[in-house]
Amino acid sequence: MNAVPYVIIHHSFTPGECHTQKQCANAMKSIQNYHREVNKWNDIGYNFGVGGDGRAYQGRGWGHVGAHAPNYNSQSIGICLIGDWRYFVPPESQLEVTKKLIKYGVDQGFIQSNYTLYGHRQVRSNTECPGDALYKEIQTWEHYSSIVTP
Ligand SMILES: [Zn+2]
Repeated sequence: MNAVPYVIIHHSFTPGECHTQKQCANAMKSIQNYHREVNKWNDIGYNFGVGGDGRAYQGRGWGHVGAHAPNYNSQSIGICLIGDWRYFVPPESQLEVTKKLIKYGVDQGFIQSNYTLYGHRQVRSNTECPGDALYKEIQTWEHYSSIVTP
């Protein structure tokens, strides 16, 4: 997989936010179980999860096509901020780690340096993901674009 042009931000909605490594690892596990057993995918759909414990968790990881945003999977890295972010923004540490993870991906050549950042709802109708509060937050981030070019 070459450097991808898009980064797509998600929230987990359920499970809700996590604060310790144990809670966050369990949350990742429960998302993985859901994606495998209910969605019948071969692994967790997201490339990465980020927890309220300030850690990034590997899902499919770099260089693998995820299952998180139809039409964009092969061209994007999908990052899920664990929690329900409709009404509250994630803690600062969770936001910072997400930004660091993206920067790392750019530095390592997994993400194009001129990438475009989207919230999931922009590339899929019928979802409120990544939640109103988080969606508002990412609109202030570098590389966010309100223009969607499929
Ligand atoms: Zn989503």
